[in-house]
Order: sequence, then structure tokens, then C-alpha cells
Amino acid sequence: MTQGRDGDATTDRKPAFGADTAGVKRAAVIGAGAMGSGIAAQFANAGIPVDLIDIPGKDDRNGPAEAGIARQLTAGGFMAPQAADLVVPGNTEDHLDRVAGADWIVEAIIEDLDLKRDLYRRLEAHRRPGSTVSSNTSTLLRGTLVDGLPDGFDRDYVISHFFNPPRHMQLLEVVEGPNSDPASVQRAWDAGHRILGKTVVACRDTPGFIANRIGCYWIAMAVLEADRQGLTVEEADAVISAFGVPRTGVFGLLDLIGIDLIPLVWGSLIKSLPQDDGAHAFDLNASELSQKMQTAGRFGRKSGGGFYRKAEDKLREALDLTTHAYRPQHKAPDLPGNGRDLAALIAAGGKMGDYAWSVLRNLITYTASVAPEIGHDLPGIDTAVALGYGWREGPFRQADRVGVAEIVQRMKAEGSAVPALLDAAAGAGGFYEGDAPRIDLSGTPIARTDDTAPAAPAVLAGNSAARLEDAGDGLGILRVTTKMGVFAPDVFDAFESALSRTDLTALVLAPASPKALSAGADLASFMELAKDPAALDTFLSRGQSVFSALRTAPIPVVSAVRGLCLGGGCEMTLHSDRVVAHAEAKMGLPETRLGILPGWGGCTRLLARFSDSAADPGSIAARVMDTVLPGPVASSAMEARTLGLLRAEDEIVMHGDDVETVACQIARTMARDGYTAPGPAFLNVSGPAGLNAALASARAAHEEGRIDEATFQIAEDLAAVLTGGAKGAPAQPMAETAMHALERDAVLRMAARPETMDRMRQTLGR
Ligand code: NAD
Repeated sequence: MTQGRDGDATTDRKPAFGADTAGVKRAAVIGAGAMGSGIAAQFANAGIPVDLIDIPGKDDRNGPAEAGIARQLTAGGFMAPQAADLVVPGNTEDHLDRVAGADWIVEAIIEDLDLKRDLYRRLEAHRRPGSTVSSNTSTLLRGTLVDGLPDGFDRDYVISHFFNPPRHMQLLEVVEGPNSDPASVQRAWDAGHRILGKTVVACRDTPGFIANRIGCYWIAMAVLEADRQGLTVEEADAVISAFGVPRTGVFGLLDLIGIDLIPLVWGSLIKSLPQDDGAHAFDLNASELSQKMQTAGRFGRKSGGGFYRKAEDKLREALDLTTHAYRPQHKAPDLPGNGRDLAALIAAGGKMGDYAWSVLRNLITYTASVAPEIGHDLPGIDTAVALGYGWREGPFRQADRVGVAEIVQRMKAEGSAVPALLDAAAGAGGFYEGDAPRIDLSGTPIARTDDTAPAAPAVLAGNSAARLEDAGDGLGILRVTTKMGVFAPDVFDAFESALSRTDLTALVLAPASPKALSAGADLASFMELAKDPAALDTFLSRGQSVFSALRTAPIPVVSAVRGLCLGGGCEMTLHSDRVVAHAEAKMGLPETRLGILPGWGGCTRLLARFSDSAADPGSIAARVMDTVLPGPVASSAMEARTLGLLRAEDEIVMHGDDVETVACQIARTMARDGYTAPGPAFLNVSGPAGLNAALASARAAHEEGRIDEATFQIAEDLAAVLTGGAKGAPAQPMAETAMHALERDAVLRMAARPETMDRMRQTLGR
């Protein structure tokens, strides 16, 4: 059931886990542009109703807000189209009173001080005292924005600086004021994390806050140093990549951002910084390089060319920084440590090493100099820069990796001034010890108590492919540690050993890396096994019995899904008692795209699961066919729920870091409340008489040319399994083990086809 745009929480989708404890039952966003509509979509993604209000349109008064919703529907801001039902469009003349119902009002109108302040005065007439109000401003200071506004407004007002696009950028910078009400600030933190899924960083009220202050400096400095030191754009971008930043490097990044934005972004930021700020040494906007780019209209990708361009013959060209003419793009230079080891690159010296050194030295000098002014602690600054700019780690961690003592020693030898914070870090043995900062931003050492040192979990058992950890009170956490969590025979050894233990009260299947719970069977091993049908049969039957054992284990089993959860990984979750999935998890059963079908009990589990929603076996089989045949991969947990890969009782969590904690919490609760394992399942099937009905929609698609012959053949294999094979009979429910045998037979038959191996080879890029 969905509803029209009334935004009431009468949708069939329950809110994200923990959203109800974040203090925001309803939100309002004012300004339906790129940011406002994206922020509204993210509230809706978590199941929170939200009013999206813009100025009235000429013909359609809600037109601008409607356009914002439409834009997010096409740009992928909604995790599933039905989420848009929770966004209620409105306009500032007719609907500003709706903010009375909002616990958090986010202002995201154009960057204009007077317009924002005027809006705040109007909001004050309607909003509930105590509701949080925030601005998404990227350049205006909080103090200036609230100057002269009522005290009550000041108390409830924070800066909430999201990054673009709001669904995917994980950083949220929050700035509070001297008179802030802790409850209003806390609400922005809690809802920012639990509802919007963001990592919240506290910033001080200074220009550009943290990420843009450091990020803009870094871009300007790295570009101007490269120009000054005579590097080509390719050389500079290769060196910059060694810092663990996105592969665009820095010139490529400016092409992406838009070189035309330099006057607006860098020009206005530098104007707002005091004269003694280190950023003035790298005034990108005033630079000859930028001026020339602006005059020539070389704005980057949006104008067809910037520092790089695609020539008419599609060959990539790069701008020669001396002649300002395009020439064919050079191959990236070979760098020490494959261009990934910054310390080795710097140690190697030469043109590239010297450039890398100057970038690191300037970056750490600037960051350490402004840190006390812009942030509250080292991790906050590192996190903001890393998340805001897509770096693997922030500046302080990078300095630690290269060696703070070595950096300081070299700077002193060169006669460079060493900022106090950097000097203090050298004295303390680095910025961090593990995850804990060694010093605060005044350079004072932080006393380490035992409680701040997180104990590594005890490993109960493990092998080269999986590890069982002790989470206390009998809760075991099993992680597949192979690359992307792929399943190989060793993984099953570890599962069997974990399931044979008698000291566990609950089990959580958790990812070893945020990238994947499991990408399924290891394709290369599968292809090798396929050469020997008996070996492949054993591999299949092992997977089936291990996953079945997860389902029927005497203890609750909860899957924590983050990143990819595909094929066998997804089948594993179909056998868990409960699934806790990150909202951005990519779950799916892409087997048919490889020419096979889910053969580790996946087809069987879906039949059983869909039996809850339909009575006759024919409709159930048809629903599984429709689900599995396209080889679906959901782009969000919400989509996975629509497909039936997640059930209503499974939980969706907005912040990826919370997935495992929530899964553990649920597993403990299930164990504590007295868990009863499900018994063996029997499935109603329609038998050979139902084969035609199960194949009906695939046959129509085939006849209409929507699917090819090979796909129709896969459909026939799938239908044979789902109807219970030759021995299937409507009046005789089939045991799960008999269904498993059908799955195995089908996969063996399908794997023997040359085109299946071709598909797999292609997927592996061989
Ligand atoms: P935008 O131009 O895309 O959208 C602004 C919207 O505000 C428009 O729909 C406009 O009609 C509406 N608007 C203007 N005046 C209004 C008023 N008085 N009442 C209601 N609506 C009004 O801008 P954007 O990129 O979404 O930026 C919005 C805010 O977010 C700005 O403060 C900007 O600095 C900040 N920001 C932008 C980005 C980004 O990358 N675009 C990133 C972080 C922060």
C-alpha cells in the first residue's frame, strides 16, 4: 500500500531502524534545488515524511518543489520510486505554516544572506519552539546568519552542511553556536546519523568549515605548485593519486567540478580568510593559469574541455601548461611503489618526488596551522576531509603514514616553519596511536586510559577464508575474509566448524570489509569445478547443506549486509532468521546472467518465502520466475525489499557503520527471548502440469523478442525446478532436500553448456 502525497507515514514501508529514536518524526526542507530536494529525498529514503517547500511557481504554485522531486527521481536520489510519496511539495506563500509539524527544518535556499535571514523571520512565526532549524550554507557564517534574530531562534539553529549529492556523500558538517540548545543540536546529530545515514563532524564557525577549507586549499596549492614546478597535468595527477585521492587527481577534479566555479568558490573563500592565512600563498582565482582558462572558456567537462579533453577523434588530450595548447595525453609516469606508496615516492626524490613532498609539506603545514581554528579534534578534521573529498585518509593520518618525525626533520633542515601542532605530534610519536589521537588540537598529549584502547575481538576459530570472533555472551561473529567475501571450499569448512560448536547462543554473519558481505561463489573456482561434474555437484551440495544448517541451527542467525551481497551471498541471507541491511547495500541474484540459477537453496527459499503471499503453487512459482529470471541486483535495500529479497521483519539501517551493531543487538535479543529453530520445510509445487503456466511470461517475452533463445532456455531450467521437476505433484509437498537436488541438477546441466562458460569468462574479463 502506498498513498498519495499526503506524506503521512501510512506507507507499507517501515522507517529505517533507529529512525524513531532520532527525535525527528517529520521534517521540512525549504529550497528544492539540487541540495534541498536531495536532502528531502534522503529523509524519505529513511521513511520519514518531509515537506519540501520552494518559492511559488508562475503557473503551478508547487511547480518548483515538484520539479525538485522529479529531478531526484531521475537523478537517483530516491532509493526506490515509492519513497517519493513521502515528500510533500509546497510553496513559501501557501504552505510555510506546515513547518509547525516539523521537528527539523532544513533551509537549503540559494546562497544569499538577506534571503536566508528574511526566510528565518518568516519561519519563526510558524515553527514550534524547540524544533531544530538548520542551514545548508557552504560559505556563510552561522554567527552572521542569526545576527539580530530572536534568541529562541539562535538557540535552535545550527549549520548542517551536506555535500552533493546528499544521498551518496557521507559527510555532514554541523556547526553550533555559543547559545545553542544542546537538545536542538543533538537532534541534528542523531537524525543526521540514524535517519540520513551521515557521518557527522562538529566544526567551528569559520569560512568553508573543515572539508572545503582544507580541500579548496589543497586543490589550489597542488595545481599552482605543479605549474610552478613544471609538471605536466598527467604527471601531477599521477603523483596526487599516490595520496589516496580519487583517480581524477587534482587537474581532473577541477575539470569535474567546473573551472568556471573558481571565481565563485575559491574567489569568495579567499576573500573571507584573514590576510595571514596560508591560503593566500596559493590564490587560485588570481592566478594567471585560472585567468587564462576563464578567458579561453575552458571550464572542464561541462564545456567540452579543461585541463583534459576528448578530441574529435575521441583521443584524450591534455593541456600543455606552458603553451596552453592541447596535445595528446601522455601515459602516466611510472612511480615508485606503483604510485600508491607516498613515502617511497617522496624518498625517491626527483621531479615527481619533490612535487609530492611539497604537496604533503604544504598540506600538513596548512592543516596543522588552521586545525585549532576550524575543528575540535584530529579525527574530526581527518574524517571531514576524507569524506568530503573522497580521500582514503585525512591529512594527519597521511602524515603519520609517511612519518611525522621525518617530515618535521626535513622541514627544519629546509628552514621551513613548523606549526606548533605538527611539532607536538612529532614529539608525541605521531598524531595517532591506532584509532586514538595522541594529542589534542592545542598539542597537549591525551592521556590514554585502558578503556580508550579498543580490545581486538578474540578469535574463536578460523582458517585462511573465514574467521569466527567472540562478541561476548555466546554471540559469535562469522566473517568470510576472502576477497569480496567470495565462497570457496575453505569458507564452508569454517561455517561447518562454527555450526558444530555448542558454546554459541547466536551467530551474526558479518562482512570482513565494508565493500561486501559476499559477492557469491568464486567464479574462477566455479569454472574450474565445472570441468568435473562430480566435483561441482559436491561444491553445490556443500553450499546447500551449510546454508540449510544456518536456517535450522538451534541458535538465531542474523546476516549483516553491507556493500555487495550477490549470488551465493544473497542465498546465505535468504537462509538467515533475520537480515539487517545497510540502506545502500547491493543485494541480488545475478546467476541467470551467467547462465545458471541460484543453486545453494536460493530458488527453494524464495518459493518458501513467497508461499506466505499466495496460496496456489502456480502463482508462487511464477513470482519466483519473475524475480530470478532477470538476474536482479537491487541498487538499495529498499529495492531488495520490493523484490522480496528482504522481508518486512528484516531491518534497513541508514548508516553503514551501524549495520553490524544492530545485527548483534537483534541476535542477542532473539537468543535471550527464547529462540525456536524452524523445522524442515516442505513446499507446494504444481508439478509438470504447471510448467506451462510458470513459463508463460517468459514464453511471451521470447515470442515478442524481449528475451533471446539462451535466456528462454534458462527460463525452462528455472521453471522445471520451481514446479518440482518430473516428480512434482500438487498434492504432495516436496521436501527441501528434494528441491535442492533439482537445483543441483539444473546447475550441472546449465554449467555444461559452452555458452555458460563463455558468459563466465566474459564476466571475468578473460
Ligand atoms: P539551487 O540553486 O540548486 O537551489 C536553490 C533553490 O532555492 C531553488 O529551487 C530556488 O527556487 C529556491 N529558493 C530561492 N529563494 C527561496 C526562498 N526565499 N524560499 C524558498 N526557496 C527559495 O542551490 P543548491 O545548490 O541546492 O544550494 C542550496 C544551498 O546549499 C546553498 O546555501 C548552497 O550554498 C548550499 N550548498 C550547495 C552545494 C552544492 O554542491 N550545490 C553543496 C553544499 C551546500
